[in-house]
Amino acid sequence: MDLKLLIKKWALHNAIHYDGKANQGAVIGKILSEHKELKDDVKSLAKEVGLLIKEISKLSVEQQKKELEKIAPELLIEQKQEQKDDLPELKNAVKGNVVTRIPPEPSKYNHIGHALIFLINYFYAKRYDGKCVLRIEDTNPEKSTKEFLDAMKEDIAWIGVKWDKEVIASNDMQKFYDHAEILIKKSKAYVCACSQEKVKQLREKKKECECRKNTVDHNLKEWKSMLDKKYKEGERSLRFIGDMKSNNGVMRDPILFRISYVKHFLQDNKYHVWPMYDFENAIEEELCGVTHVIRTTEFMMRAELHNKLRECFGYKNPEVLEIGRFEVEGAETQGRLIRQMIEEKKVTGWDDPRLVTIKALKRRGFIPETFKELAVKIVGLSRTGTKLDWDIISSVNRKILDKKVNRYFFIQDPVEINVEKAPEKKAELKLHPDFVERGKRIFETKGKFYVTKTDFERFKTGKLYRLMDCLNFVNKKGKFVFDSLEYEKYKDKGDFIMHWLPVSKDLVNVEIMMPDAKITKGLAEALVEDLKTDDIIQFERFGFCRLDKKEKDKITFWFTNK
Ligand SMILES: [Zn+2]
Repeated sequence: MDLKLLIKKWALHNAIHYDGKANQGAVIGKILSEHKELKDDVKSLAKEVGLLIKEISKLSVEQQKKELEKIAPELLIEQKQEQKDDLPELKNAVKGNVVTRIPPEPSKYNHIGHALIFLINYFYAKRYDGKCVLRIEDTNPEKSTKEFLDAMKEDIAWIGVKWDKEVIASNDMQKFYDHAEILIKKSKAYVCACSQEKVKQLREKKKECECRKNTVDHNLKEWKSMLDKKYKEGERSLRFIGDMKSNNGVMRDPILFRISYVKHFLQDNKYHVWPMYDFENAIEEELCGVTHVIRTTEFMMRAELHNKLRECFGYKNPEVLEIGRFEVEGAETQGRLIRQMIEEKKVTGWDDPRLVTIKALKRRGFIPETFKELAVKIVGLSRTGTKLDWDIISSVNRKILDKKVNRYFFIQDPVEINVEKAPEKKAELKLHPDFVERGKRIFETKGKFYVTKTDFERFKTGKLYRLMDCLNFVNKKGKFVFDSLEYEKYKDKGDFIMHWLPVSKDLVNVEIMMPDAKITKGLAEALVEDLKTDDIIQFERFGFCRLDKKEKDKITFWFTNK
């Protein structure tokens, strides 16, 4: 066996799976499962693997694939198969020509639902060797802000989307105006002088207003006046000549442009006539060359208008794949309502642990791989809509984190117990039971231990208990007496195994922000002091947590999931 080649094979395989960055533990695991004899010298194996991972991480994923193809093409085939099975094929998709888009509106923070649909659009572009455009739909000056734009870009990059091109819709304002003028000239749009209230009422009654009869010349003059700041907000709007009798309310002469003198966060006071969402969206699909749109069904009613608008310019409609809207049960996902909750101080901010914004989930310890897995395996395949409940999200995240992260002891509401006649002992516990090479923690114990209050209250007289990987003791009428060291002794008649901590001054005060925004307090083992902010770990029998903040006298974690 050529060890170097073996390491290279699994390191490349793993790296290709995880965006070019191989995980040392996972690679070692693969190698050991093939060659058990290497277990005897895991240390030098780990060193070799580490060196090789460093080397291949300099390659792009494409180069890594080429390298793997040379030494183990069978692994590549397996991977292609996997990707292919994940999402249904797109209609009329030509390799190399597919363009998809991610169109966030910078008026809020994105939530998990957005993340999943963004990822699906991105995956499709990748699958067909196409392009994915990040299009910032910022033509609502009252709502768009730099804070939201920055947060969005950060979140979208964090979930793993590498967009090929970024388009800011407000940079295309002149093009929108040009399109508006064409519509007016083609008698497809008119300037309406009615109040917002009147427009709304007439649309409900399926009735036209007098402005619809304006001549093209009059409309052009009025449009020019709108652009020349001759009108105040609400005094004029440009409306599409749709179908006032349509059962689809969207089609009843919708407003295409409105006046707003609010300063725009990017364009300043350069513009004051702004396109409405439908117009901006319909035209941008063409400007960006979008060939395929994957979106949720909530846009279905608007599609008729978008297509009608594009028809006026002879533009082709992109292929649309609609997937059911996904909601997280029990979580508020409406940006407008979350903003209100923040204002009323019902939540602490966009990353409050009770929310499902990308920011909140990231702070809690959900990782990009989880979003990818959910997008492809769960949402991507469901065309009818998905209620994502916490069980699904957590189970995917748990499965991925379980292997990645190390385990530590945290004792919630600690109660001190004294185990009489316990021998002095060095208890050794692995950082992860499946990955010996990650190392271990050593606890020196003498007989005084902390256990959780919950475990303490479960003790029954006469029963045998085990402190995990340490010793067994018997509860003799409230006194705890050492019984034995071996697990085998416990196995036959023991009541339960618990995690614990030795009573020692090295323990760390820990506070954990729970998903209901309440704080849980306790003690953790000293090694926790070595962790860094953003590290995710598992507190045994408690759950996964992300280190949020280190202070002199305490460390704060956020609870991820069980
Ligand atoms: Zn009118």
